[in-house]
Amino acid sequence: MNQRERALVETLKEPAKSIVFEAFKRFDESLDGHRFRLSLPGRHPCFRTRAQQHAIWMKGRQEVATLTGPVYHVRGKVRTYCDGFEKRSRHQSGLAVDIGFRDTWSGKFTWYVDGSAREPHELFRQLVAFLEEAGFEWAGRWKDPWDWHHFEIREDA
Ligand SMILES: [Zn+2]
Repeated sequence: MNQRERALVETLKEPAKSIVFEAFKRFDESLDGHRFRLSLPGRHPCFRTRAQQHAIWMKGRQEVATLTGPVYHVRGKVRTYCDGFEKRSRHQSGLAVDIGFRDTWSGKFTWYVDGSAREPHELFRQLVAFLEEAGFEWAGRWKDPWDWHHFEIREDA
């Protein structure tokens, strides 16, 4: 676990924070000296402000001004249905994390790990099992939006 990853995980709320730290401990050990490392994609912070969430929601959408205020049209691939205001993401509550294994050769995130299979690699399955057992919901089981990086804890759970 590097400094950037530690700082990101530190912004999470409990119980998410402890569980994710535990995942890093567990899966760093199993990967010691190997090609794949557990990490957090750098694109978006785990813990987001409304503005940060709204910026992600705008991806694939276009704002059009009308007399009664802005309306939004879908113009491409939509990333999220949480606009940050009316519909909040659990990233805004510090209870969601985007995580996966990074291939240290290519620098890319992959869930296949071996790079060929269409099914998640055993290692990633173990990570999913660990996080689900600890109370996270995995967005890899969702149909729309499907997001294999995303794990969240329901606030009402
Ligand atoms: Zn996410």
